[in-house]
Amino acid sequence: MDQALDKALDHRDFYRLPWNYADNGISWLEPTTKCNLRCEGCYRDLENPVHKTLDEVRADLEVFRRLRKSDCMSIAGGDPLVYPDIVPLVKMVKEMGWKPIVNTNGIALTEPLLKELKEAGVFGFTFHIDTSQNRPKAKGWSETELNAERLRYAEMVAKVGGLACSFNATVNEQTLPEVPNLVEWARKHADIVQTMVFILFRSPDLTGEFDYYAQGRKLNFGSTYKETQWGGQRSVFAPEVAATIRTVDPLYKPAAFLNGTANPESLKWLLANRIVLGGEIMGYVSPRFMELVQNVTHLFTGSYLAYAGPGSTARGKLAAFAAGLIDRDMRAVFWRIVKTCLTKPANIFRRAHLQSFMIIQPVNFEADGRQDMCDGCPDMTVHDGKLVWSCRLEELNQYGSFVEAAPRPAAQ
Ligand code: SF4
Repeated sequence: MDQALDKALDHRDFYRLPWNYADNGISWLEPTTKCNLRCEGCYRDLENPVHKTLDEVRADLEVFRRLRKSDCMSIAGGDPLVYPDIVPLVKMVKEMGWKPIVNTNGIALTEPLLKELKEAGVFGFTFHIDTSQNRPKAKGWSETELNAERLRYAEMVAKVGGLACSFNATVNEQTLPEVPNLVEWARKHADIVQTMVFILFRSPDLTGEFDYYAQGRKLNFGSTYKETQWGGQRSVFAPEVAATIRTVDPLYKPAAFLNGTANPESLKWLLANRIVLGGEIMGYVSPRFMELVQNVTHLFTGSYLAYAGPGSTARGKLAAFAAGLIDRDMRAVFWRIVKTCLTKPANIFRRAHLQSFMIIQPVNFEADGRQDMCDGCPDMTVHDGKLVWSCRLEELNQYGSFVEAAPRPAAQ
C-alpha cells in the first residue's frame, strides 16, 4: 500500500463503532443461494443453488435471537428476490423485531413487489450494482454509466416512499477512478440515496505467497472461489478510496470505523456521513456525533443503529444544531448551513440530508498467514446453529472448517 495514503488516515482519529459479536448493528440472513446474475468474484456456490424452507429460515432467525442483538437483518443470498417466499420472510423478520433490509441486485424488483414488501414491513433496500455483474440491460456499461440504473432504482424506492435506499459497488483498481463520479451522483440525489457502500475486491489467490489448509489437509484454496481477472493486478485499500473521494469532495472526513481482527490499524469498515443541502455539501459529521448516536440509540432501543430511514436522514439541520451544542466540529457544519441559508434563502425551506459512505475492506492476509477479518463483523450469518463470517461460508460448506493460511516455504 502507498505509505503516504496509509498515513493520511489514522484509525485513532475515528470513533471505533461499538459493534461486536453479540451486540451489533446488523446481522446477515441467507434464505437462498440462487441468483439471477453471475457477478465476477461472487463467493457463493451458484452451480448448485438451494432455497431454504421458511421453517429453516425461522430456525436461523432463532439462532440470531438467542446469540446476538442487532438493529437490522440484511436479507441476502444469492438474490433474495428470487426466493419464492420473500414477502412472508420479510414479514417474519419484521415480526421477530428486526428492520428487514433486502440486499439485492434489483433485477427481479417490480413496483408491485416493492409495494408488497413495504406492506410486509421492509425497512429498506441495498442494491448491488456494478460492472462485475454484466447486467442484462447494461452490458459493457461503465460504473459511471451504471448511475442511470442506480437512479432508476432510487426513484422506484422513493416513489413508494418511507424506505431506506442504499447502493453497494465492488471496487477494484480499474474502477477506482470512477468512484468520484458515483460520489458526485450521490450528492445530486442525496434526497433519495441514503448510503453508498464501496466494497474493495479481494481474491484469496492474489499474492501466491501462502499455502492453505483445512482440517490438516493442504488445499487448492483458489478453487473455492470462481476465477476472475476482473479484480485486476493489485488490491485497493480504504485510504486510497478515501483519497479518491477527496478529489471530488475535499470535505470528506470519516468519523467511525471497525478495525481488523489481526491488525488494529486496518480500516475494515470506514464510515463517513455528510450533510447535503440544496446539492451543496455542508460538511461531515464528527466522531463524537457518531458516538452520541450509537450510544443514545442503544440506550433507548437496546441495539446499535445501522440503518436510518429517510424521515431521520432528512433532519440534517437538526442534527447539526443539536450536536453543535456540544461538539465544535458539528458547530462548524451548523454555521455552514446558516451561512448558505443566508446567501440562498430558498435553502431555509429545504431539507438537509444526511448521506453515508461506507468503505468495506474484506479479508487481508498478514505476512504470517493470519487472516485479518472485520472485528465485530456485522455480516455474521448462521451455519449449523453457529454464527460465522458470511464471506467465508463457502469454506465451511466445502471443507467442513475454515481455511488456515501459512506462508509458503522459500524454494530450496
Ligand atoms: S468479516 Fe467478511 S462477512 Fe464480516 S463484514 Fe467483513 S467482509 Fe463481511
